[in-house]
Amino acid sequence: MKHFPIYLAVEDRKIVVSGGGDAALAKLRLLLKTEAKLVVFAADPAAEIKEWAQESRLTLYRRALTRFDLDGAALIYAADEDPIRDAQIVALATEGGHLVNVVDNLEDSAFITPAIVDRDPVTVAIGTEGAAPVLARAIKARLEEQLPQSTGVLARLGKAFRPLAEKLPFGRARRDFWADYYFQSGPAALEKGGNTAVPPALETLLQDHLAKGEAAGRVDVVGAGPGDPDLLTMKARRLLDEADVVIHDRLVSPQIMELARREAHIINVGKTGFGPSTPQEKIHDLMIEHARAGAHVVRLKGGDPGIFGRLDEELDALTAAGIDWRVVPGITAASAAVAQIGQSLTKRGRNASARLLTGHDVKGFADHDWRALAQAGQVAAIYMGKRSARFVQGRLLMHGADAAMPVSVVENVSRSDTCVRSATLADLPDVLQGIEGPAVILLGLAPRAAAEFIEYNPQLREQV
Ligand code: SAH
Repeated sequence: MKHFPIYLAVEDRKIVVSGGGDAALAKLRLLLKTEAKLVVFAADPAAEIKEWAQESRLTLYRRALTRFDLDGAALIYAADEDPIRDAQIVALATEGGHLVNVVDNLEDSAFITPAIVDRDPVTVAIGTEGAAPVLARAIKARLEEQLPQSTGVLARLGKAFRPLAEKLPFGRARRDFWADYYFQSGPAALEKGGNTAVPPALETLLQDHLAKGEAAGRVDVVGAGPGDPDLLTMKARRLLDEADVVIHDRLVSPQIMELARREAHIINVGKTGFGPSTPQEKIHDLMIEHARAGAHVVRLKGGDPGIFGRLDEELDALTAAGIDWRVVPGITAASAAVAQIGQSLTKRGRNASARLLTGHDVKGFADHDWRALAQAGQVAAIYMGKRSARFVQGRLLMHGADAAMPVSVVENVSRSDTCVRSATLADLPDVLQGIEGPAVILLGLAPRAAAEFIEYNPQLREQV
């Protein structure tokens, strides 16, 4: 180890930065997070630096620094991006016994600044001694994902609680308590009631753990997005990592299920085992049963749980059973579908609202405001619309829609086997032929680029 990582006390101490360009800006953005007194020397500072000076966030001297300017400096950054100037500053700093960093110059630096994951007061510093900056960035990205933004707030609030937590026996019991606080009860309390909800939640949690150790079970109803694991929210990703039990629908892609904790109990309620589709009541029973047994249940649904997801029925059942729940939104199929064809759901001057429709509801084909939908420029995304396509076409034409109204069908949105078909209202049912995966029908939108359409339709490519 050629560099020893330490945390330096910088509150009210002077940190000097020489330079006013991009390198100085990058360092200053980081340094502004500290409580140090920042002093910048730059003859021609960037506009942002001038603004920070005006806001008294730093002191700016529009000249080169001299040895006297370094008095009392805890750290010095040579960020002029000029080797001659850098060398002068290194000489001055060394002479005065100061720690100096030359931006992007490991050799001449007495210290280096790590990559930082900031959840103040929790900070993680990552350094590779200049060997692998790409690796440092990758590690940082991974940690950013794993540490919720609330970590810092929770650490601050938890600190005051440490003496009380000593009522728990040292070792596993105390570790479990804190793990529960940082990754489950704490974030949940923060989300529901803000900072003031955290101390009472800590108190309750402590009583629970004192009583029997085990935390109560709960259910997180989580949106898994349309299929591409990269379209999961960070929160969904983390919950999948933590869950004891994952109850998922058929629409959730296998790649996403790969992300669930290896030890988790995975229950597919969309396919064989429970039959073609598990009755809703059975799903409620499963969630309740596992949560009652103390499990952290993730109820994973395709897209967004609040869009054609029977969310209310599940939440009502959980509430009636007295089980704690939370909802985590996801990217819905319509959002991902329009993104894929390069269009937007709403557009200035075209449509000020967009509709999300279902092709059929509990009573059969679903009825809608066909007259409004038939107007030129309207946009609607039809979910579960394959079987009702002819019905939809008929209703729209009957209400005066133009047969040339553009229609796009996006199958398996965001997945590697995705397919986009471009059509018009006139050929709506036909264009759906052969589509086997889940598909969104976008009324009123054509794919932005014809090339894209061709790319996803090998048959058509042959014809062109
Ligand atoms: N809650 C989901 C929708 C569930 S209803 C969401 O927000 O996306 C099921 C319908 O959603 C399917 O019939 C289909 O129309 C649409 N859908 C879901 N995932 C899809 C995908 N990856 N590609 C295309 N359509 C999808």
